[in-house]
Amino acid sequence: MSARPARVIETLDGREIDVLLVDALVNVRYLTGFTGSSALALLSPDKLVFVTDFRYVEQAAEQVDTAFERIWAPQELMDAIVDVMPPGAVRLGFDDEHLSVRTHQRLRELLPDRVQLVPAGGLVEGLRAVKDAEEIGRIAAAAELADAALSRVLERGIVGLTEREVALSLEGEMRSAGAPRPSFDSIIAAGPHGALPHARPRDVPIERGQLVVFDWGAELDGYCSDCTRTVATGEIGQSAADVYELVLAAQLAGLEAVKAGAGGREVDAVARSVIEAGGHGERFGHGLGHGVGAEIHEAPRLSQRSEDELRIGNIVTVEPGVYVPGEFGVRIEDLLAVTDTGAQILTSLPKQLISVE
Ligand code: ZN
Ligand code: ZN
Repeated sequence: MSARPARVIETLDGREIDVLLVDALVNVRYLTGFTGSSALALLSPDKLVFVTDFRYVEQAAEQVDTAFERIWAPQELMDAIVDVMPPGAVRLGFDDEHLSVRTHQRLRELLPDRVQLVPAGGLVEGLRAVKDAEEIGRIAAAAELADAALSRVLERGIVGLTEREVALSLEGEMRSAGAPRPSFDSIIAAGPHGALPHARPRDVPIERGQLVVFDWGAELDGYCSDCTRTVATGEIGQSAADVYELVLAAQLAGLEAVKAGAGGREVDAVARSVIEAGGHGERFGHGLGHGVGAEIHEAPRLSQRSEDELRIGNIVTVEPGVYVPGEFGVRIEDLLAVTDTGAQILTSLPKQLISVE
């Protein structure tokens, strides 16, 4: 059996599950290799089953790990589960964080009463949080592509273009370098707009003398990258320059704190305390970072409420920010892999404040 399904099966006993139903497509892809948009998988120590519909018969034959028995469901995928449940299995684990109430009801109707539905949300996500070398390589490649795309956009200049024009040109650069899509909607936010951490690009021109926040990423081979840089368009005021240096100091401290065994809360606190000491604690209103992988936000979390502990193979962001309403925002974000010797930074753009025309 392939490594990933085997790792899932090792965890089932401890969770008191006989069979795990996996229906989130990102998890199906992780476990089977299938990239289509209609599939589910059932995993148990006795057998691995992959279910899709007739549209994906050929694609599944090419992509799905041969350890899985492949089944074509005539109509609803869930309906096929009854026939492929291993005899004697009475505890079916399901993803209670994502499965709809309607699907849950459908399962209850289909399955005999003796089968108990056991909540198993986060099980595959927990495994996905620890990346192997190939996954780390893919994320590093996505980050490299995204870095190069921003460099080209900044070389051409941004002053006088609207935020939306810059976003389109950045996304165009990523696509022409081979990314099928950005890993999320790019944030390009100039001046006071940068004080909104999740700003959407506007049809408003970028002016001289502003700070501009770029938060963007590429998806490549099914994996995401995530990076933020804040640049200046010419001269900025002293308070903006001071806040930039403060956020950078917090970011560097946060990066240093990332290592196997460190708590997500602890790493957040290291960076946060720098911003608090600089008098801007109230203006850093989000968590320090998050895991990145097949999804742009995944486990583990670095935040004041995190209960996660970093492990070798985690990939996380460190992205402190200070947002001064009505004036400007600064955020600096890198992507790191937790290694056996500390952490390896996967993003490479400079972090000293640069000025762009
Ligand atoms: Zn980001
Ligand atoms: Zn992020």
